[in-house]
Amino acid sequence: MLNRRKFLEKAAAAGMLSMLPGFVKSNSLISALPEKKALPVFISTWNHGIPANYIAKKVLESGGSIVDAVEKAVMAIEDDPKNTSVGIGGYPDRDGIVTLDASIMGPDSNAGSVCFLQNIKHPISVARLVMEKTPHVMLAGEGALQFALENGFEKENLLTEESKEAWKKWLKKSDYDPQINWENKPNEFHDTIGLVGIDKDGDLAGACTTSGLGFKMHGRVGDSPIIGAGLFVDNEIGAATATGMGELVMKTLGSFLVVELMRNGRTPQQACKEAVIRIVKKDPDNVKRQVGFIALNKQGETGAFSLQPGFNYALCQDNENKMIDSKSYY
Ligand code: ASP
Repeated sequence: MLNRRKFLEKAAAAGMLSMLPGFVKSNSLISALPEKKALPVFISTWNHGIPANYIAKKVLESGGSIVDAVEKAVMAIEDDPKNTSVGIGGYPDRDGIVTLDASIMGPDSNAGSVCFLQNIKHPISVARLVMEKTPHVMLAGEGALQFALENGFEKENLLTEESKEAWKKWLKKSDYDPQINWENKPNEFHDTIGLVGIDKDGDLAGACTTSGLGFKMHGRVGDSPIIGAGLFVDNEIGAATATGMGELVMKTLGSFLVVELMRNGRTPQQACKEAVIRIVKKDPDNVKRQVGFIALNKQGETGAFSLQPGFNYALCQDNENKMIDSKSYY
């Protein structure tokens, strides 16, 4: 089916625009439509988004699918033991146990996720298997681990010496008060890699993986593995992912909200801003917390918005892969 832009372009080429009701002589109708950006596009959270975007693009270039691209991209971040917020090396919970959350969605609206998974370095790949090989969307804890082991994953110790030291230091005060933008400080406590992308054919996918908030309660699960909260993809409309205080994102189903706002005509930028404003309105706790959204629409347009200053994201588009500081509410 012709979309509106294609229809108008074809009509213009055939000299038919003057027959349309309300036609004004210039091509103003066409220029009012969202501009189609060069594809592919990848957008991802925080500084680790730069290598992730790079890998995603390379995977596409070597013939991988958009789902391969988003999975492999975030796997590289899970692999990095120096990253204290994702995969191996992630800060543990208050009992000293590293527990991981991840989710993935593809262009067919299929979704998979794992939460409270322990001792498996690549939760995103387990999430993908849940999506592709099971009738379910989410597996948790022991069941997720069992499924991973049955599918050839190996148990590993994910608690590095550095993260153990940080936990021991934290234990002295045991003061749980997640601060904003820990991720950009020398001793990172968290932050998630969320990445959404679109390939040259206009197909969308996204992946999100995290060790969650450092020193959280044992058993705590954040927004990242919750489809619609930490990640949402609708191949007709666009995709969004979130980072920051997961509780605030979960209570507003943030990524789903961003995509729905785009469905209703908002640009990715407007949609992210509106989702942040929803959090501001609904949650009195927001002032001390950080949340950031990034989004991408079917035209390849992108946007981002955060509660607090300090959120940045990586954008890979038009042969450029660069960091951008997000606009923020406060
Ligand atoms: N959103 C993640 C969570 O709440 C953590 C983060 O992105 O900082 O688990």
